[in-house]
Amino acid sequence: MSKLYSVVRLKCPRCHKGNLFTKPNPYSFKNSLKMPDRCLVCNQDFQIEPGFYIGALWTSFPIVIFIMTFLSVLLLVFVKMQLEWFFVVITIILFSLQPIIIRLGRAIWINIFVDFDVETMSSAENK
Ligand SMILES: [Zn+2]
Repeated sequence: MSKLYSVVRLKCPRCHKGNLFTKPNPYSFKNSLKMPDRCLVCNQDFQIEPGFYIGALWTSFPIVIFIMTFLSVLLLVFVKMQLEWFFVVITIILFSLQPIIIRLGRAIWINIFVDFDVETMSSAENK
C-alpha cells in the first residue's frame, strides 16, 4: 500500500515526503523528467547508479500495454471505432500521456529498490 502511495503521488519511496521530480507539472517540457540527485527531505539517493532509470523502461512498458489493452476494448468493442481512427486516436493518447507514463515507470522502478523507512522520518524530524 505504501509503495502505491509513493508511486501515485510521485514521492520519495523512503520518506514519502520529498518529491521525486523537480517540477510538479509533467508537461513542463524542458524539465519534465528532471529529478533532484537526492531527496530534499530524507537525503535518499535518487540516482542510485549511473543509468539507473534505463531499467525503468521495464516498468513503464507494462503501463503502456495496460492502457493499450484498455483503450482497445473501449474503442473497438464498445465504441466500435473504425480501425484507421483507432490507430490515430491511440497514437495521440499514448503520445500525450508519455510524460506521465515515464514518471510513473520511474517511480515504480525506484520503489523496487528503496523501501519506506519510518526510522528515517522520525530521526529527520528530531533534528
Ligand atoms: Zn525522502
